[in-house]
Amino acid sequence: MGTILIVEDNPMNMELAADVLEASGYDVRCAGAASEAFEVLKEMLPALILMDIQLPELDGLELTRTLKKDPRTKDIVVLALTAHAMKGDRERILEAGCSGYITKPIDTRALCNEVAKHVPPPDPSSNGKES
Ligand code: MN
Repeated sequence: MGTILIVEDNPMNMELAADVLEASGYDVRCAGAASEAFEVLKEMLPALILMDIQLPELDGLELTRTLKKDPRTKDIVVLALTAHAMKGDRERILEAGCSGYITKPIDTRALCNEVAKHVPPPDPSSNGKES
């Protein structure tokens, strides 16, 4: 139900995002690269993917395009994680099939709000440890 896959190659960002989403009651899966994301997606389909744009193998936008072409994965909501949300980047991100984006450094509250717009936290009573 409320499973979120985080695709991020930076361990600190990964940990931060995973911690804050788990505290909100989401079930979190992690992948450090596109190949790992494909492995996870073979077993299960998350409700949402938090997608780092800059990844070592296939970048996040290419990976998003690939997922959006596959009937099995095309309905998964993808939110981009990006350090550079400059003019033009927003368009590129949305064109690739992302539903929105979160800028880095990650603001945990903004992250939760953006994710909750698409996938409500599974248990509203366990709503974040730091609020
Ligand atoms: Mn990265």
